[in-house]
Amino acid sequence: MKYIFVTGGVMSGLGKGITAASIGRILKNRGYQVTAIKIDPYLNIDAGTMNPAQHGEVFVLSDGGEVDLDLGNYERFLDIELTRPHNITTGKIYKTVIEKERHGDFLGSTVQIIPHITDEIKGHIAKTAEAFENHGHKAEVCLVEVGGTVGDIESMPFLEAVRQMRGELPAQDTALVHVTLVPADTMGDLKTKPTQHSVKALRELGLRPDIIVCRSDRVLPGHSRRKISDFCDVPISAVISAADAPDIYQVPMELEKEGIANVILDTLGLEKRGVDSEWYHTVTAEYTNRATIGIVTKYGIEDVYLSIKEALKHAGRALSTEVRIRWLDAETFDDHDLAELDGILVPGGFGSRGVPGKIRAIQYARENRIPFLGICLGFQMAVVEFARDVLGYKDAISEEFGPGTQVIAILPEQEEVKDLGGTMRLGDCQVDVATGTTAWDLYGKTGIVERHRHRYEVNPEYIEEIKTAGLVFSGKNGNRMEILELPGHPFFFATQFHPEFRSRPTRPSPPYLGFVNACRENKEIKQ
Ligand code: GLN
Repeated sequence: MKYIFVTGGVMSGLGKGITAASIGRILKNRGYQVTAIKIDPYLNIDAGTMNPAQHGEVFVLSDGGEVDLDLGNYERFLDIELTRPHNITTGKIYKTVIEKERHGDFLGSTVQIIPHITDEIKGHIAKTAEAFENHGHKAEVCLVEVGGTVGDIESMPFLEAVRQMRGELPAQDTALVHVTLVPADTMGDLKTKPTQHSVKALRELGLRPDIIVCRSDRVLPGHSRRKISDFCDVPISAVISAADAPDIYQVPMELEKEGIANVILDTLGLEKRGVDSEWYHTVTAEYTNRATIGIVTKYGIEDVYLSIKEALKHAGRALSTEVRIRWLDAETFDDHDLAELDGILVPGGFGSRGVPGKIRAIQYARENRIPFLGICLGFQMAVVEFARDVLGYKDAISEEFGPGTQVIAILPEQEEVKDLGGTMRLGDCQVDVATGTTAWDLYGKTGIVERHRHRYEVNPEYIEEIKTAGLVFSGKNGNRMEILELPGHPFFFATQFHPEFRSRPTRPSPPYLGFVNACRENKEIKQ
C-alpha cells in the first residue's frame, strides 16, 4: 500500500479535498486502484448531527455512514464506494481508545496521546486501506486527507501519526502533498509568504512536503515558483500551480498539465503508464443546450446541496445541457421567480422552516406542468401538497411538523429512538420498481438500490386514497413508498431516497437524467 497524505496550510476551504480527489483520478486514469480516507479532527463521532449550514452537506454512504462531503467527492472522482471507517474523526478514535482502556487492553500503562491515540490512528488507516475493495480489486494507493489547517490544536495527533507512518514505512511508500494559498496583495501581486509560513509550521512538526500545490487566482509565474522551491525546500518541479478551474472535474487535467503525475509516481516509485483519457472527454463534453433549474431551499449555502448540484451537472453533461441553478429562498420567493424556470427541484431537509414555500413550489410545478423533482422531504411534501389540493385535506401535514391530517408519519421502528446520532433509516435499501412507469423507463430494471436518510414515510393509512386520486407510487420497499409520479404530467417525480449520492460524472443518476431531460424539453417548448 502506498499512502499519499494531503495537508492544508494558510486557511481552510482551499479545495484540498478536490485536489486530493484529482490526484486520485490522475492515478486511476493510469490504471492504479485508489481509495481515500478523510480525517476530520472534530470531536463528533460522525457528521450526522452537524448543521449543514456550518459544515456543508452530510453525505450518506451505502453502508449508512453519515460522513463529510469530501467523501462524496472521492466517490465521484474515483468511481468507488466507501464505507464508514473511511471518515475518521477525533471522536471515533478517542471512543475506541477509551473503550479499550475500560476493557483492560492497556492494563498497567498510562494511556496517552502518544503512543495510544497515534497507534489507534495508524492502525485504523492501515486497516481501512487494506480492507478496501472495488469490484474485487484491492487498493494500491490510499489518499489520506487531513482536514483543517496545519497548526490547529485538534489536528496535532493526526499529523503526529502521519509523521510516524512516514518514518516507519519505506521512503517510497508515502508522499506528502501540502495544499496552500498564494493570495494576491492589494496591488494584485501574488504573495508566497503565507505558503512559506505554513510549510515552516509543517516542518516544525517533523513533516517535509514532497509536493506543494499552490491555489491561486491565476497560474503561478516562474519567479513565485522559484521562491517557494527555495524557501520551502522542494524541487521546482514539485511546486504545482492550481489556478481556479471553471469546473471541479477539470482540476485533474489542470494538475496533469503542471506535471504532477510524474512527481507523484517518482516519489512513490510507481511505474509510468499510459493514460486512459475517457474521463477527461466526459467531463469536458460540449454543451449545446441550457436549462435553468430552481432549487427551493431554506439555506443560502450551496454546499448544503453539493451532491444534488453535482448530480444535475452529471445529467447535464450526458445530455449536452448546461444546468444553471437558481437558488430560491423558500421563505421569500414568489410565483414570478418560478415562472422563469425550466424545472423545479425540492430537496431534502429537516425542520418546519421554509416548508410552506416548498409546498407552494410543488403545487406550482404540478398545476403549470413544470418538470419537478422531489428528494426525501421534497417527496414527502409532494404527498402533502397532493393531499391538500387534490384530496381536499386542507390540514394535511407531516407528523414531523405538527398536528393535522398526517399523511406523512414516523417510521414505526423510529418511534422508540432516543439518540439522534446515526439512528435514521440510513444507507442502501432495495426498491422494487413497477413496470410500465416513468421510474421503470428511467432505471430500466425492477430491482434497484438507493441510499436513504429519513425518519418519516408516507402514512400507510392514506396510501389507497392517494393512489385512487391518481398519484402513482412506482417504487416501493414492502409497504414503504419510495417513488411517486403523476401520470399525464411532463415530469412529476419524487423519491424518498437520495439518488444524488450514487451519481457519477460517467454514470448519471436515472431520476436526475429524466428530470434534466424534461427541463430541456420544457425549455424547447417554451421557446
Ligand atoms: N425530515 C424528513 C424525514 O426525516 C426528510 C429527511 C430528508 O429530507 N433527508 O423523514
